[in-house]
Amino acid sequence: MGDATSGWFDSRELFIGGKWAAAAETLPLENPSTGEEIGSIARGRASDVDAAVEAARAALDGAWGRATAVERGRVLVRIGQLVQARIEDLARMEAHDVGKPLSQARNDAIALARYMEFYGGAADKLMGETIPYLDGYTVYTLREPLGVSAHIIPWNYPMQIIGRSVGAALCMGNAVVLKPAEEACLTALAFARLAEEAGLPAGALNVVPGLGEEAGAALSGHPGIDHVSFTGSFSVGQAVQKAAGENVVPVTLELGGKSPQVLFEDADIDVALPFLVNAGIQNAGQTCSASSRILVQRARFDEVAAQMAERYGTLRVGPAMSDLELGPLISGKQKQIVEGYLRLGADLETLAEGRIVEGTPAGGHYVAPRLISGATPGHVLAQEEIFGPAQVLLPFEDEEEAVAIANGTGLGLVASVWTANGARQMRMAKRLRAGQVFVNNYGAGGGVELPFGGVGKSGHGREKGFEALYAFSQLKTVACLHG
Ligand code: NAP
Ligand code: MG
Repeated sequence: MGDATSGWFDSRELFIGGKWAAAAETLPLENPSTGEEIGSIARGRASDVDAAVEAARAALDGAWGRATAVERGRVLVRIGQLVQARIEDLARMEAHDVGKPLSQARNDAIALARYMEFYGGAADKLMGETIPYLDGYTVYTLREPLGVSAHIIPWNYPMQIIGRSVGAALCMGNAVVLKPAEEACLTALAFARLAEEAGLPAGALNVVPGLGEEAGAALSGHPGIDHVSFTGSFSVGQAVQKAAGENVVPVTLELGGKSPQVLFEDADIDVALPFLVNAGIQNAGQTCSASSRILVQRARFDEVAAQMAERYGTLRVGPAMSDLELGPLISGKQKQIVEGYLRLGADLETLAEGRIVEGTPAGGHYVAPRLISGATPGHVLAQEEIFGPAQVLLPFEDEEEAVAIANGTGLGLVASVWTANGARQMRMAKRLRAGQVFVNNYGAGGGVELPFGGVGKSGHGREKGFEALYAFSQLKTVACLHG
């Protein structure tokens, strides 16, 4: 396949100040399903980041900065409509670029459209307040944009993350510089193309693809930015926060997880079963909120293990366009990392594995999903994010032990509890350390309306929903003395 972009834009270009321009150098673009090179992308440099930050600043001083909340909302809604009209193109583009099974890529494109609709609708609905104060004063608050908002995002859910972070930033009137992941730039560029078509003023959104250590580092430490939204790994998040700290710039960090589902003996296992498995294997486990630990009360441990193993036996892995349960991992490097973890679990019991279907291209980065038992809660496979298709089953005796294991990794992105006991539902929802807790479900369909983010080493700040708008804006207090 020569051109994964269907000719709507040139993937070797940067989008800065409303103009498309070729980069001095390019990087290869790989299709993870085949390992083949399918094109190239721009290798944005520090000088390109400088230009993008400058263009964003100019937009704030120009048409974008003057746009009313209603106008901002309308342009976001228009972007959403254009995304909606290109769902299939976007899904195919993503499937080729990141190896995501086609229907999962389609869901991401649908979510992107929905984010634009949500944040378009929200733009004119965040109000300040008036504050009762001393005699002779009127005091009120204004919600203002932070300014130039830098967005550094990973490769696993490019469209969903663009939706939630860029959507919220534009909603509040910020101007954005987006650095997509080197392995997944196409839909970011496609989004910029649609934003341009929708009439987003020049410079309100700039896209600089490139390497993390070049374009990403230049952006996170840039003295001209006012805010960073980072989604990615713990170690890079740490570096980004340090770099932003040099300029005293606020940072939203959305990092990884080791998210547990806690199943008590009174749970409805038939309802739980698809959630238990799907939350571990969606996007081949390369999901920040993947549920990679399944905690089961001992009385039903063997039963749940057997039922999950049966499901694992039906899981198929193959090329993204075959649209099976799992596609390949994003890269050879990611496959090595995941296989390295699986080797560390060689002493554990493999309860079941899915299968890589016949005829998959030898150059693709396929890993069969694995269900693992026999780990202690402190085992590296029960502690660290694997970011691949592997789930670890852990038994527990009672609520105390369940909470200790569930909260025992230092990470805290998402958690769920499965129980019919209403009091226990309430207690567990309070006791589980996570930014989102689900009761008798997992993920709640991903809802764009639902605030999302981590506690502990999973990060800080919230994106998604209305809550994101507070993180993507700042409050000004105005006190008028009129006597
Ligand atoms: P990553 O290696 O941290 O990369 C994330 C982004 O940071 C990429 O755009 C990367 O660019 C860039 N980057 C790399 N080095 C940089 C540096 N020194 N300075 C500035 N930017 C730099 O993460 P990943 O491997 O792509 O994604 C997987 C991780 O993301 C997992 O830990 C996962 O849990 C987490 N994640 C979290 C969420 C959430 O919402 N909490 C969502 C999705 C993923 P290049 O890739 O181009 O080098
Ligand atoms: Mg790719």
